[in-house]
Amino acid sequence: MTVEQLSQMLREKLTSSFGKSLEDATTKEMFQSICLTMKESINANWRMTQETYDENESKQVYYFSMEFLLGRLIESNLLNMGLLDLYKDTLTSLGFDPEEVFREEHDAGLGNGGLGRLAACFLDSLASLQLPGYGMGIRYKYGLFQQKVVNGYQVELPDNWLKDEYMWETKRGDKAIEVRFGGTVETTMENGHLHFHHQDYERVLAVPYDVPIVGYDNNTVNTLRLWSAESTTNSFHFHSSRGHDYYHYLDYKRSIEKISEFLYPDDSYYEGKILRLKQQYFLVSAGLQSILQRFKKRNKPLAQLSEHVVVQINDTHPSLVVPELMRLLIDEEKLGWDEAWAITEKTVAYTNHTTLSEALEKWPEEMIKTLFPRLYLIIHEINERFCKMLWYDYPKLREKISEMAIISYEHVHMSHLAMVGSFSINGVAKLHTNILKDRVMKPFYTVFPERFNNKTNGITHRRWLLNVNPELANVISEAIGTNWIRTPNELTKLLPFAEDASFQQAIAKVKHDNKLKLASFIKRHYDITIDDHSIVDVHIKRLHGYKRQLLNLFHVIHLYNRCIEDPYLELTPRTFIFGAKAAPGYFFAKQVIKLINAVAEKINHHPQVSKKIKVVFLENYSVSLAERIIPAADLSEQISTASKEASGTGNMKLMMNGALTIGTLDGANVEIRELVGDENIFTFGLTSDEVFRYQQAGEYRARDYYNNDRRLRNVMDLLVNQHFSDDDVEFKDIFYSLLYNNDEYFVLRDFDNYTEAQNNVQETYQQQSDWLQKSIINIAYSGNFSSDRTIQEYAEEIWQIKPTKIGNLIIN
Ligand SMILES: *Cc1c(COP(=O)(O)O)cnc(C)c1O
Repeated sequence: MTVEQLSQMLREKLTSSFGKSLEDATTKEMFQSICLTMKESINANWRMTQETYDENESKQVYYFSMEFLLGRLIESNLLNMGLLDLYKDTLTSLGFDPEEVFREEHDAGLGNGGLGRLAACFLDSLASLQLPGYGMGIRYKYGLFQQKVVNGYQVELPDNWLKDEYMWETKRGDKAIEVRFGGTVETTMENGHLHFHHQDYERVLAVPYDVPIVGYDNNTVNTLRLWSAESTTNSFHFHSSRGHDYYHYLDYKRSIEKISEFLYPDDSYYEGKILRLKQQYFLVSAGLQSILQRFKKRNKPLAQLSEHVVVQINDTHPSLVVPELMRLLIDEEKLGWDEAWAITEKTVAYTNHTTLSEALEKWPEEMIKTLFPRLYLIIHEINERFCKMLWYDYPKLREKISEMAIISYEHVHMSHLAMVGSFSINGVAKLHTNILKDRVMKPFYTVFPERFNNKTNGITHRRWLLNVNPELANVISEAIGTNWIRTPNELTKLLPFAEDASFQQAIAKVKHDNKLKLASFIKRHYDITIDDHSIVDVHIKRLHGYKRQLLNLFHVIHLYNRCIEDPYLELTPRTFIFGAKAAPGYFFAKQVIKLINAVAEKINHHPQVSKKIKVVFLENYSVSLAERIIPAADLSEQISTASKEASGTGNMKLMMNGALTIGTLDGANVEIRELVGDENIFTFGLTSDEVFRYQQAGEYRARDYYNNDRRLRNVMDLLVNQHFSDDDVEFKDIFYSLLYNNDEYFVLRDFDNYTEAQNNVQETYQQQSDWLQKSIINIAYSGNFSSDRTIQEYAEEIWQIKPTKIGNLIIN
């Protein structure tokens, strides 16, 4: 297609859809017209893909996740369709700014952070590798809240992402499914068999909205199915004689629609809220029923289900798939327990994402019993059989049975349910998987050693390099050709260029251009001028104690103190960028946001210090904001308390864009270091083993570090002497959490090591050629963290699924 032909198509689309001429069209109408033209070709391939899977009877993976943090799809869809440059050129020739038009798309923010973004990267890789994969999620009416900063405080606003039509979804009303809540179970004996009758339940209609997932240059279009809760008038008993029925109906309708109304805004924390549990079952039941309906069209015995279907659960949130699949097989399909269990155990696989105890789900038994009376009986039976098996087969574990049981102390332990009911249990980075095997899940590893495996996380290099940093992608392709786009490991071909002066200069120019763009964004939105030759030091991720934004900030305050003590101090200029949302109920995290903003205010307005340091808190950290920041970053802050960050994926995105990492030996940082070598990463601080040792011995004394380190004292005292706030109690809780609650995350313990590592950063940066060499080496090894590698491992080692080629569709 040529620019002229596409222009003509867009003109016609504007007229047929909006009755507008090109000259009168708004950017929004232009955006929507583009989506409509794209959808015509996507839809044809979409149908073809699904038909091919059914004809070939391909085994399919269903990725169940409570979160899919998609961000915008327009650019990644255009890239994958091979049309990005054509659309950009056409828009420009028609007098539109492509970036402005693309920004008409509202982020689909149906996730909190890393876990939800991982699910989105996986969908892109599945389709790009021609693998039959489905996403199953919830179509929340409101995504993760929008963050505003007012007087330095976080304020949460609803994310009304469906306000304008969502261009990529298609409602499939004909595929709606009934999900049942509450009621009672009556047990009867028929022909010597027990039967369970679920009655008096509440009926909720699950309506699927399908989003096409376009593969890279391959005709594959997979599906992300998002379920929406709706009520039906025929699920409500109208008594025509009573006038109040109409209002009762409206109440009832509201109570049902609430199920898919909003995403819980917590990350790495478990809250026992009943609505959240309803959401989990809603996803699980609707998803599994639709899978079984589709499977039955293949006319195969249910005993073969696991040869056609694999269900991967993203953390324990969907672990009710285990009892729900049992229920469907036993009550609906009339299989016996053993048969149903054999199928379930072969079909479900579980990914663990955290070892933080506050994030491990355990639901009150009563809640499960009331909401899902039939599932409760099944969970109870699974638990009985599991505990009996332990008693007879593992005498050495007898005293651990209460610790391993699925139901104990009036709670249902979801990770235990997930581990007992699945054939694969994987961690998301080598260190994390080892911690699961050696510590957190050790007794389960003794019983099911063959189930445990590692799949180190990844990110799609198509979005996180080709889309967000096309200039860098071009420089790479000029040096080594374009094979790396299909085979990201071939980025290692850059290694011979690491010391090449002209290649270094090309990389430096791209980074500088990206810094100028970010600087102009910051100037426009925050009226802060940043030095485009400064070190751009970024700490972008959810705000959490274990991610230690506070450690970073203490280093910033320490530099501020040094600048004031010594006005002639030679400091390489730095721009500290923070982006982070705090859970609305997480008081400490919100205080840290306020402190970052208070420190920023002070430093940015200080006549001398502001010449060397700037601190910017960018509000509303989201996929689209990450895409703006990452290409401009020099330094990637990955400084979690060792053992606490399962993998991290922000670390991978930044590395791929040439940032060097300053980090602890935690999560995937360990694997980054293994690849690039110790001299190309700045590591510091306690190791995970040292953290465990401290915790076991109980011998950490935070106060000693405060007493013995003058620099730390000078930093911390500023929190409580009104230096950053007129209100002298404003930051006292942070101060107390460190000194009186003994600094749970070892901020004070690691401060000295961190400061030293930061000094190394500065020294290295001053040797520009050294720095660029390290940057190139990081880019060269980042191909290992493409989610294509991750997905290939899942496909071969867990799912046993194979690529299915989708034929070329000839349209006109
Ligand atoms: C990648 C990403 C994350 C995860 O970042 P971590 O540094 O791994 O915690 C969170 N939020 C958004 C918007 C992301 O793009």
